[in-house]
Amino acid sequence: MVGFSVKNTTIFNPLDLLCPHYCRGCGQIGEVVCGCCKNYVKTISFYSASDLSPLFESVFAVGWYDGPVGNLIREHKYNSVRSIADVLVEFIDEMLPVFDVEITLVPLPTITSHIRQRGFDHIGVLTHKLAKRRGWSVERCLVRNKNSVQVGVNSGKRREQAKDAYKIGKSLCGEKTYMLVDDVWTTGSSMNEAAKTMRKNGAKRLMSVVLCVNRGKDKGRAIGITSKGIKNEVDNSVS
Ligand SMILES: [Zn+2]
Repeated sequence: MVGFSVKNTTIFNPLDLLCPHYCRGCGQIGEVVCGCCKNYVKTISFYSASDLSPLFESVFAVGWYDGPVGNLIREHKYNSVRSIADVLVEFIDEMLPVFDVEITLVPLPTITSHIRQRGFDHIGVLTHKLAKRRGWSVERCLVRNKNSVQVGVNSGKRREQAKDAYKIGKSLCGEKTYMLVDDVWTTGSSMNEAAKTMRKNGAKRLMSVVLCVNRGKDKGRAIGITSKGIKNEVDNSVS
């Protein structure tokens, strides 16, 4: 098994701009993730159906936050290694099935102060790259109501902070199939709140895609995640 290790640090490394890429799996010079290591990442890919949240017809995810995909997300988001976005989007593209309808991608809006800190909107970048690969459209249907912070707080607090976090930024069409895009599914509070806002405002067909699911320190046992996938995350505040 290939060991991925990426330091989780917020320090921007200027060498990333000057040096050639090296594989985050095996260290080989060339690509951010080499062809061989990509195969390893793909073996942990999965997607779950609607059992993660009743508000979505489907929830798709590439892998676990504590696996290689999670390492790549952290490096993309906190170290501003933008070349990683292409690899992450490739993983999403290969994991998603072929749909017989046109999909409208909706990025989950990031807190403005986080965009300022990081210097870019990482969800916006991923969403536009995915749209380009699939030939889909992007609509920023959601905007944030307030700048609540979600990093590192417990699940109860996250749910509280997520309440009324979003409002409609662009009117929705009941005929369209929307797919909400975010990087990590932790408690699902943000995604569920976004889904509620969209459903209330006319979205009829709604799916979501994330890069990974954070199953927590107990590897998901507390929220019913098994090796077969995800089952019934308990989130009674959302109905
Ligand atoms: Zn490699």
